[in-house]
Amino acid sequence: MSFTTPGLQAFAAAVDTERQRQLAKWGDQRHPDGTGQYPELIVDADVARMACQQAAEGEYLTWLHILREEAAEALAETDPAKLRTELVQIAAVCAAWIHDIDTRTPPQTDTKTEAPFAIGFRLHHHGNAYDGVLLPGGQTILVTDPADLLATGAPTLDDLLRGGYHGAHIEWGHQTLHAEFQRAIGLLATLADPEPCRHDHHGHCRIHGTTASPCPHVSARELITRHGRPEAGRG
Ligand SMILES: [Zn+2]
Repeated sequence: MSFTTPGLQAFAAAVDTERQRQLAKWGDQRHPDGTGQYPELIVDADVARMACQQAAEGEYLTWLHILREEAAEALAETDPAKLRTELVQIAAVCAAWIHDIDTRTPPQTDTKTEAPFAIGFRLHHHGNAYDGVLLPGGQTILVTDPADLLATGAPTLDDLLRGGYHGAHIEWGHQTLHAEFQRAIGLLATLADPEPCRHDHHGHCRIHGTTASPCPHVSARELITRHGRPEAGRG
């Protein structure tokens, strides 16, 4: 048999090989479908559909979004004929995905949404604050109950927000640090004495009565001069 779609011959051959391996291991398998039995499956399908649509509109669509949507739809389906159609769609998406991987030159990793390391954040939602972490692969974990160490996760931060934290404000770890640093500089500006230092021949400041050299007030004024105009001249 020959196919018109590029890459489908290789896909079918790979599936054939895998099916032979499965048959050898488990034989001809018979199971109930089990799909569409739980209300949350309908919700999952809606969330996956929305996530995929928004990813497409926001131009950050990935194969994850697409396959997840197809899979969620299949899992929510009760009618065997419709389920069969959904499963064919999953297989077609897998074929397209594999063809994409096989024809990438050079093989590239999706760096668009990847951070080099995990980034902590605080999520503010309806008056509550939760700590979370964004992993390098985009997966996001949110601690929902610190006392009992309960957490929720999602394939992406966007998925997490859409899954129950609409309109949440995200405060990133480095933003927190920057804000704290500016507060510290502001505090330093309040505490530092503007009166110029006068050092004796030991290098001690006579004005501030310190034996440290240079006087801490000199160091403080240097820091304030270097960092003390927050956001001035920035976009
Ligand atoms: Zn001084």
